[in-house]
Amino acid sequence: MTNEAGGRYDGGRFRRCGASGLSLPPVSLGLWQNFGDEDSTETGRAIIRLAFDRGVTHVDLANNYGPPPGAAEAAFGRIMATDLKPFRDEMVIATKAGYRMWPGPYGDGGSRKYLLSSLDASLRRLQLDYVDIFYHHRPDPATPLAETAGALAQAVRSGRALYVGISNYPAPLAVEMADLLQALGAPCIIHQGRYSLLDRGADDGLLDRLEPAGIGFAAFSPLAQGLLTDKYRQPATPPDARMARSTTLPPERLTPAVRALLDALAAVAQRRGQSLAQLALLWVLRRPAVTTAVIGARTTAQLNELLDAATAAPLSDDECQSIRAACADLDHRRTNT
Ligand code: NDP
Repeated sequence: MTNEAGGRYDGGRFRRCGASGLSLPPVSLGLWQNFGDEDSTETGRAIIRLAFDRGVTHVDLANNYGPPPGAAEAAFGRIMATDLKPFRDEMVIATKAGYRMWPGPYGDGGSRKYLLSSLDASLRRLQLDYVDIFYHHRPDPATPLAETAGALAQAVRSGRALYVGISNYPAPLAVEMADLLQALGAPCIIHQGRYSLLDRGADDGLLDRLEPAGIGFAAFSPLAQGLLTDKYRQPATPPDARMARSTTLPPERLTPAVRALLDALAAVAQRRGQSLAQLALLWVLRRPAVTTAVIGARTTAQLNELLDAATAAPLSDDECQSIRAACADLDHRRTNT
């Protein structure tokens, strides 16, 4: 493959993940979509190779990514085996369990039974001996938190995972889980949550709770699944866009108020000589509590555009003020319609 270290780390700017010893790149590559059995293997391979060559050392997976579930891990495992094996020690590979993966009571949730057998299956698909980060993907109210914590700690003690994290946990539960994991000697180093200009919930206390607790934050869907890009400012949605191809981004999300926000944000982006996607990414990265933004990319051109933004000048106070005003306008319209 891929060029020797030359260039890969020149952009630098790695961020320390909470109070851990692990650093992550500002932009990480997620394989939730675009890496299923229906997607082009060669495009996926090109995206992963490009990402690594440009310093994206962190790849984010989950047992259920595909479709079908498991397909993204299997695809990535094949690319690891053929292209990236010599670089394993330069990479942070994360996976998760917490959503439905196989039939019956042991294929979903947060039990010890599910989490550890799912991790074993992930390792087989990935063709790896260990993952760097193993996450519980979402809270499971039916399983005692201590059992889930015990399973995560066991993943570390058994050498199947180097670090553990949680995802989609509300702030108080996240802190409770972090305390349990700390006591078990497997600190929770990272919380993964949705965060973008269209989903600003993490600003309402979550990030403020994580930082003092020494927990890093991986912001997923920083482009709101692509909604925060110029393609949705066109009169008609392009046929290759996620909104036209996937049920995860229904057309109802593109309301007139959202369209107005996109136009206002695009004006700020244009003044900086950037695309709306680049502005959206930089907005997520403006907070030091955000360790990394976990993006998706369908093409190498999209990935290049985002990675170019990660090394651009940060947003100024004036630009942040314009963005806040545009978002306040959206919030106002949302509450009055
Ligand atoms: P994004 O918000 O980054 O959306 C990615 C999509 O945006 C792309 O597939 C593409 O869509 C579009 N896009 C990307 N770059 C550009 C560009 N430069 N110009 C125009 N369009 C662009 O992230 P995702 O929603 O894909 O999520 C990212 C990752 O986060 C996932 O892969 C997963 O790893 C993680 N995640 C975690 C969850 C959790 O519960 N923990 C839940 C969801 C995601 P298009 O095809 O329309 O062009």
